[in-house]
Amino acid sequence: MATRGHGAQSSEKSAYIEDLFEREHRIYTRMAQIAHSCKLLWKIIVPTVGLLALGGHFFSTISWRSHTPVSDIPIIYSQVNASNYTCVPGQDCWPFSSDWSQFNQSIHGSLRSTTPWAIPCYNGNSSDSCHKVATSYGDPIARTSQYGAMEFLDWETCGQANCLLDSLKPSSPVSGDCSLGRLSTYHVEARNAKDISATLDFARQRGIRLSIKNTGHDYLGRSNSANSLAIWTHNMKETKYHKTFQPQGCRTNYENIGEIGAGIQAQEAWTFFERLGMLVTVGAVSSVGLAGGYGQGGGHGPLGPKYGLMVDQAVEFDVVTADGKLHTINECTDADLFWAMRGGGGGNYAVLTSYKFQLHPAVPINVYSFRADFPKPKGPLDITQSKVHRDILTALANNQTQFADHGLAGYNFVLKDHIVSLQILPSDDVEAIKGITAQWRNFLDDYPGLDIGESKYYSFKTFSEWHDFTETPAISRNGPVGLGIMVAGRLIPRELFSTNDNVGQLVDAVLTAMQFSYTNKGLGSAQLYATGPSNQRDNSKTGLNPAWRDTLWHIVMGAAWTSTTPPNVRTQIQNTVSASVQPFKALTPGGGCYMNEADWQEENWQQTFFGENYDRLLAVKKRYDPTGLFNCWKCVGWTGYDE
Ligand SMILES: Cc1cc2nc3c(=O)[nH]c(=O)nc-3n(C[C@H](O)[C@H](O)[C@H](O)COP(=O)(O)OP(=O)(O)OC[C@H]3O[C@@H](n4cnc5c(N)ncnc54)[C@H](O)[C@@H]3O)c2cc1C
Repeated sequence: MATRGHGAQSSEKSAYIEDLFEREHRIYTRMAQIAHSCKLLWKIIVPTVGLLALGGHFFSTISWRSHTPVSDIPIIYSQVNASNYTCVPGQDCWPFSSDWSQFNQSIHGSLRSTTPWAIPCYNGNSSDSCHKVATSYGDPIARTSQYGAMEFLDWETCGQANCLLDSLKPSSPVSGDCSLGRLSTYHVEARNAKDISATLDFARQRGIRLSIKNTGHDYLGRSNSANSLAIWTHNMKETKYHKTFQPQGCRTNYENIGEIGAGIQAQEAWTFFERLGMLVTVGAVSSVGLAGGYGQGGGHGPLGPKYGLMVDQAVEFDVVTADGKLHTINECTDADLFWAMRGGGGGNYAVLTSYKFQLHPAVPINVYSFRADFPKPKGPLDITQSKVHRDILTALANNQTQFADHGLAGYNFVLKDHIVSLQILPSDDVEAIKGITAQWRNFLDDYPGLDIGESKYYSFKTFSEWHDFTETPAISRNGPVGLGIMVAGRLIPRELFSTNDNVGQLVDAVLTAMQFSYTNKGLGSAQLYATGPSNQRDNSKTGLNPAWRDTLWHIVMGAAWTSTTPPNVRTQIQNTVSASVQPFKALTPGGGCYMNEADWQEENWQQTFFGENYDRLLAVKKRYDPTGLFNCWKCVGWTGYDE
């Protein structure tokens, strides 16, 4: 198989394409049997193997809950209908090759049959094309420029079907069959809203499952789906700056508005607007898309405490709704849809083609950077009993409220044997950060037994300089790709930082979670992000989970697997990640987590991902997408385990 599907102008070309589609039709007919129900497969495997694998530790998870007055009983939400879009290759409903060919012509040759990225290596590993894949297998940007690769192997895999290289030694020979796994059957390399409109019409009329992919960073695999027709927005890169801007139908005048196409990635955005003296509320990693899952589901980053999340910056979107129609939406034209797409999650209400948002005049990015190795424990490590972990976490939590109130963002990576902690203040006053962090810095510098690698202030003139700094190996903690990654998270409210007793409980929970992860094949680390909208408390304009507005720490627990990890170990790792957030759930009954950095197995997902906005989001969803054409995993209105 090779990438194909370009415009069939001549009849010769057209016959060639029909022949290819016919051949692929036969291949996919066979593959459909394997590729159907990927997550359903996991769903069956996980509880049976997982509980056995976790053994006694699973029961200690249960006991965290029973000792605590937890009331996170799942809320019963109104039922949605089963999916209308279930037609898969091999069924009578699946379009003939001539239909695909006609559709391809209607979108000027932008239809592609999906080819797994690693396919050249399944014919031996000596070809140039295989070498190219192998050498960039762990490169996040290279992955995002392929439709046939996701950032994480989890979502290239369906049961036993996949097309993977060895994550740690990608140039090693591979054996077996290369198959699509969970990748879509066909995809459209969308260039404009018209391509998207035609694709929605085709999928809707044929009853085919639809998926939307931008970069493929999604931790819940919501940007692809086996047997689907995908819209790939990667090439929609138009970028503009508006000195002044008035949204259609509104009276409000804005200054310094950025406009980006759906495929723009974080680094492309900050590079473009930096030249104009402007900052963009991007996240931590250059390859993440801005307008897709990030810009519709939340979008936290180093500018979050000062300016808010990405969704807080949105002033207008251009979208294509499920009926194939193009709209410009904002709070004056389609207030409900705009509200839902500002925080209610990507992939679910309409396809966004252009995102217009508030920029911020550039100021220096001032940073206090601290790194240290912990003293070696005497005897085996028990993180729950580690004084150095407890003392440092307590000091950080005691400072967190004032850090947030001053607009400081924090990236804190606490590991079993060391810590990396960055406090960030975007400000013209480059000295201000020193006063705000003085107590924290003095505590760390004076703490006995720490092997301090760095305790230093920086002032970066540009966002690019700040980002280069975060990529230095000693600091860099984000972004390994080309392997499997599971995460789970929890939003920690302000109140838990307000008294010594509450801080004590919070620190206990972090230590317990880390120890559980450490002893059960997880990473044994906790990521404490203080990058939320701590100074933007009003949630009335966004469909975001209200829990975000009260959040000081967004805690993420994670673990990784590679393509050589046996399935039972992978299941064990997944269950460790899911269980490791239980101490935080117990502390925050009825609370939430960030839907984009969440456990894909989350059971109580409506409450946890969307909070009290769920029912209103569902009403908007039903109004704009009454047949459920957009149907992604644990998105609002998701129809259940029928993938
Ligand atoms: C290494 C890494 C670092 C991260 N860092 C951060 C961070 O600092 N801050 C943060 O907030 N999050 C972060 N995330 C999480 C990130 O926000 C999500 O992965 C998000 O889903 C990425 O959006 P995307 O559009 O790039 O990805 P995709 O996987 O392509 O899409 C995600 C979702 O958006 C939908 N979608 C995509 N494009 C469109 C569109 N045009 N219209 C409608 N729906 C669309 C997809 O269908 C899917 O449901 C990180 C993730 C990773 C893997």
